[in-house]
Amino acid sequence: MALKKVLTIAGSDTSAGAGMQADLKTFQEHDTYGMVALAAVVTMDPKTWAHDVTPLPLDLLDKQLNTAISIGPDAIKTGMLGSEEVIKRARQAYDESGSEIFVVDPVMVCKGDDEVLNPGNTEAMIKELLPKATVVTPNLFEAGQLSGLGKLTTIDDMKKAAEKIHELGAQYIVIKGGKALESDKAYDLYYNGQKHVLLSTDKFQSSYNHGAGCTFAAATTANLANGETPEEAVKHAKAFVASAIKNGWKMNDFVGPVDHGASNRIEKIEVYTEEV
Ligand code: ADP
Repeated sequence: MALKKVLTIAGSDTSAGAGMQADLKTFQEHDTYGMVALAAVVTMDPKTWAHDVTPLPLDLLDKQLNTAISIGPDAIKTGMLGSEEVIKRARQAYDESGSEIFVVDPVMVCKGDDEVLNPGNTEAMIKELLPKATVVTPNLFEAGQLSGLGKLTTIDDMKKAAEKIHELGAQYIVIKGGKALESDKAYDLYYNGQKHVLLSTDKFQSSYNHGAGCTFAAATTANLANGETPEEAVKHAKAFVASAIKNGWKMNDFVGPVDHGASNRIEKIEVYTEEV
């Protein structure tokens, strides 16, 4: 059977743990055919690892999107888009593609930098992306911004935020508690408009976890393209990224990426689920 074609609209992380590099590696590990339309290139200062984001010209993004859409992606994922204009184009590309799987990773900050990339982007994501999202995968901070609830600190807060984001049009929501939630386990909350399911794994080292968020959303996208239900897709993506984090490695004094191949090559991690 032909491989499912999966397109990411995202930035390039030159250190290759996150961004479109993480997406492509993850798509490959899931036996899908990964494709990219690149919105920006992120480089790092070798001395300080400060991030520098260079947006690509919009007409170049348009050409990539035209090419990719002509190939007929079965699923589309968005990553770091960077500007309202790019967010709008990602939405248009999804509409034109005829694809029925749209996974929105609402990236708001570049890891390593705490500054929100551009506050207008949050509004644009709410208007353009959420109403079409099959699955949206915010971390705690992003879920607080999208829901308007601000700082989220408990599972109960996450439930309220998921309900708000569902009202904004996203079909399925998974809020990543991850390392930001104070807890003994790595918790994520899945919501389908009716029930809340808490997903958990052991919490592993978190020094070398660069790319975890992108990897999780990319795995979710590939799993959906391969025919899994949203709940299965998210659960299996969590298992995949947990192994990637457990086996994360030190690249230099500043950053350590996850090991995108760990789940297939080294070890499978068990995910527990519980309705809450
Ligand atoms: P982002 O990179 O978007 O902030 P996170 O890194 O918080 O996203 O989370 C990505 C995925 O990795 C989520 O499923 C989260 O629960 C999981 N995760 C994050 N940190 C850990 C950890 N230390 N151990 C196990 N899983 C983790």
